[in-house]
Amino acid sequence: MHAEIIAIGDELTSGQRLDTNSQWLAVALGELGIGVLYHTTVGDDMAANVEVFRTAIKRADLVVATGGLGPTADDLTRPAIAEAVGVELYEDAASLAHIRKLFTSRGRTMPQQNVVQAMFPVGSRPIPNPHGTAPGIQLEVARSGGAPSLLFALPGVPAEMKEMWHATLAGEIARHFPNRQIIRQRRIKCFGVGESKLEAMLPDLIRRGREPSVGITVHQATITLRVMASGPTEQACYEAMEPTLQTIRESLGTLAFGEEDDELEHVVARLLAEKNRTLATCEWGTGGLLAHWLHEALDERAYLGGSVIRSPQAAILGAGVAGETIDQHGPVSESIARELGASIRTRLGAHYGLVVGAFPEVDPDADEPPSFFLALATPEIIHIKSSPFAGHPEILKARAAKQALNLLRLTLIGR
Ligand code: ATP
Repeated sequence: MHAEIIAIGDELTSGQRLDTNSQWLAVALGELGIGVLYHTTVGDDMAANVEVFRTAIKRADLVVATGGLGPTADDLTRPAIAEAVGVELYEDAASLAHIRKLFTSRGRTMPQQNVVQAMFPVGSRPIPNPHGTAPGIQLEVARSGGAPSLLFALPGVPAEMKEMWHATLAGEIARHFPNRQIIRQRRIKCFGVGESKLEAMLPDLIRRGREPSVGITVHQATITLRVMASGPTEQACYEAMEPTLQTIRESLGTLAFGEEDDELEHVVARLLAEKNRTLATCEWGTGGLLAHWLHEALDERAYLGGSVIRSPQAAILGAGVAGETIDQHGPVSESIARELGASIRTRLGAHYGLVVGAFPEVDPDADEPPSFFLALATPEIIHIKSSPFAGHPEILKARAAKQALNLLRLTLIGR
C-alpha cells in the first residue's frame, strides 16, 4: 500500500512559499509505516484540482491533501473533491456552529462567506479543527476492483494541519491500515572523504531493494548514512538494522564520527569533557563560524573563546603574529597557521589552540587548486594540515571549520 500527498495553492506552484506541509506529512506517514509514492502540487484551478484528486484516488490507497479549505473564491478543495468523486455538497450543522462560535469568541460576527467551510462532500465526515475555521474532510472512496481509497483534506496552515494530524489522522490511519509494517531509521555521520569514496568503502550496502536499506546524503561536507528497516515493532526494526550498522562502523573506522543528530562540535565537546581539556580558536578564513559552533556546543569551561581576524594587521596587532613572518611567508602559509595556534593557546591558557588559516585567492586558470592551512597547537606539538581550497564557494567555510574540528577530534582520540 502507498500514499499520495497533495499540496494545493497558487502560492506553492508560483514558488512564493515552500511546500513544507508535504515534507512534514511524508515523514509523519513514514513513521506510521506508510510509504509515499507521489507528491503532487497543484494551483488554485478547479479543473486541475478535480483531475489531481481523480488520479490520486485511482493510484493511491491513502490520499492526504492540504490547503484550499478557506472561505474565499480561490479555495476549491471541497467542491473539487465532490466533483472528483461525483457527489453533492451538504451543510454540516455542527461544523457551522463551531465556526460561528469561533468568530463569537473572537468578538466578531461570522461573515456569510464562511458558511462554505461547513460544506462537505456527501459521504464524508468533518475533521475537527479546534483552532481554525476550516474543518478537514475524511472520505472513503470506492474503487472498482480494489479496496477503497481513504482520502483526507486538511487546511494549509501548518500549525492547524499538524494539530489535526495528531488529534485525528494518525489514529484513523493506524486503525484503517492495521497490518502495516512500521519503519524506523538510524543515522551514522561521517566526515573526511567525498561521497563516492565513502560509498566505495561500504561493501555493496547502498543497493536498491536491500533490506535494511542504506541511503547516503551530504550536507556541507558531512555525509549522513541513513539505515532504514521495516518491521512489526520498533524493536524488530532496530534489531534488523544492527548488523548493517556494525558493518558500516567497521568499514569506516574513524571516518564515522557520530550518530543521529551529532555534529563534529558535539563529539569534540564530549571528548574535551572526558579528558578535562580546554580549547581556544583563531580563525582567518572562516570568519567566526568555528567559534559560533563551539560556543553553541561547549560551555565556557571547555571553550575559552578566541579571535577572528581578517587582515595582516589584525594578525599582528590582535593575534600575536610576527610582522616578519607575514612579510616572509604571506598570510596563507604554514608558518602563520603555526604562529596563530601557538599564540592563541598561550594567550588564553588553553590546552589546545585550533586555527583555520587565511584562504587563498583562486586562479580559475590554474591546473591545481591552491592550499590553505589548519593548525592545532597542543602542549607537546603543533599539528599542521594543508588542504586543497576547492569546491563550491557556498560550502568552503563550513568545510574548513569542520576540517579543523576533525583535526582536533582525531588528535583527541589518538589518531
Ligand atoms: P485557512 O482557511 O484556515 O487559511 P486553507 O486550507 O485555505 O486554510 P490556504 O489558504 O491554502 O489554507 O493556506 C493557509 C496558509 O498556510 C497560507 O499562509 C499558506 O501559505 C500556508 N500553506 C498552505 N499550504 C502550505 C504548504 N503546503 N506548506 C506550507 N505552508 C502552506
